[in-house]
Amino acid sequence: MSDTLADNKTPPGPSDGLAVLESRRSAAETYGIPLAVLLEITHRCPLQCPYCSNPVELDRGSTELTTGEWKKVLSELAELGVLQIHFSGGEPTARKDIVELVQHASDVGLYSNLITSAVLLTKDKLAALADAGLSHVQISFQGNEPAVADRVAGLKDAHRKKLEVAKWTRELEMPLTVNAVMHRQNLHQLPDIIQMAVDLDADRLEVANVQYYGWALKNRAALMPTIAQIEETSRIVEEAQARLKGTLAIDYVVPDYYALRPKKCMGGWGRQFFNISPAGKVLPCHAAESITGLEFESVRSNHSIAWIWQNSEAFNRYRGTGWMPEPCKSCEFREVDYGGCRCQAFALTGDAGNTDPACALSPRHEEIFKQAERESAASQNRFLYRNFAGGTLETEESRDNRQDNRNGA
Ligand code: SF4
Ligand code: SF4
Repeated sequence: MSDTLADNKTPPGPSDGLAVLESRRSAAETYGIPLAVLLEITHRCPLQCPYCSNPVELDRGSTELTTGEWKKVLSELAELGVLQIHFSGGEPTARKDIVELVQHASDVGLYSNLITSAVLLTKDKLAALADAGLSHVQISFQGNEPAVADRVAGLKDAHRKKLEVAKWTRELEMPLTVNAVMHRQNLHQLPDIIQMAVDLDADRLEVANVQYYGWALKNRAALMPTIAQIEETSRIVEEAQARLKGTLAIDYVVPDYYALRPKKCMGGWGRQFFNISPAGKVLPCHAAESITGLEFESVRSNHSIAWIWQNSEAFNRYRGTGWMPEPCKSCEFREVDYGGCRCQAFALTGDAGNTDPACALSPRHEEIFKQAERESAASQNRFLYRNFAGGTLETEESRDNRQDNRNGA
């Protein structure tokens, strides 16, 4: 017999109001379940961003959860007390059932956010999503004009399409977040990207410096900003935050290679976040499958999501502070940053149980920081584009083709 909570109770509907939210909150507190969950419903995507946060080993379409399986997941999450779902990918609209899934999320009382590259959306499709109850749209931008943005995305005409979809989003009266992933080759456009977000009537702008694992680690030499760029970025963001207060909220993620202490990655392993991969793996972080030697449970198993969250070996391995080595073990910040990022520790030291080398107290910090500094100053600008074939290196020819296509050649 399955031990899923959803098997035993009827999910609450959206009309039940405050009482439902309160009962959800207390259910979530019982299990310590996050109130918002990221669903990566597919890894398929028409773009090829060299910093993509998907794993290098992408889940093929044939392994993805079916419509029925995703609906069951949504019902179970609602029953557990989750309030919000982020439909992400890959490109979530690459799934033909995206409207059906958003409708089901609404039916079981979940707020939904679409995290999209936008290039597959038509106005009719976006309107259908709004009618199905989509409550928020987040569009990723690779720059503020086609010459840079389409090259980073690895897709001609992508930037124009994104601007169009952003406009439709606001016409349909849905809130809009602009997500701008920043790196050495587009940081010079930051002031214009901020203005673009204002012109698009976005509510929020995320200025997210690349985090270096997975595809981004493979592209680190082409993406790593210089220290001078980061100092200038911080100045620009602070000035814009003050100037645009009340008009545009700006979130800022610094690249932790240049910080003294690491970020509190995912709020701490297994503390505030989980996501579900296209094939149904329940993960403490979207890059977690890059750590070899950890087995992640699937929603296709006989275990409920609540059981996986609370009891699975992978979630408990780095939960809390008991797993920590020195210098974290006796550090006053151990419950502030929880030792940083496990995926980064694995990628850079070969052991996810080590202190994140982004921390200045890590014995590997200096060596890694110096390497990043050298890479930022070098002129290796070619991208390894993300795809199912393990990546394709940018060539002069592929760059020129995109330029020709843009010019209508
Ligand atoms: S980062 Fe780029 S390639 Fe990766 S899923 Fe998002 S849009 Fe697609
Ligand atoms: S030693 Fe560990 S706990 Fe202390 S600041 Fe560095 S990463 Fe955080």
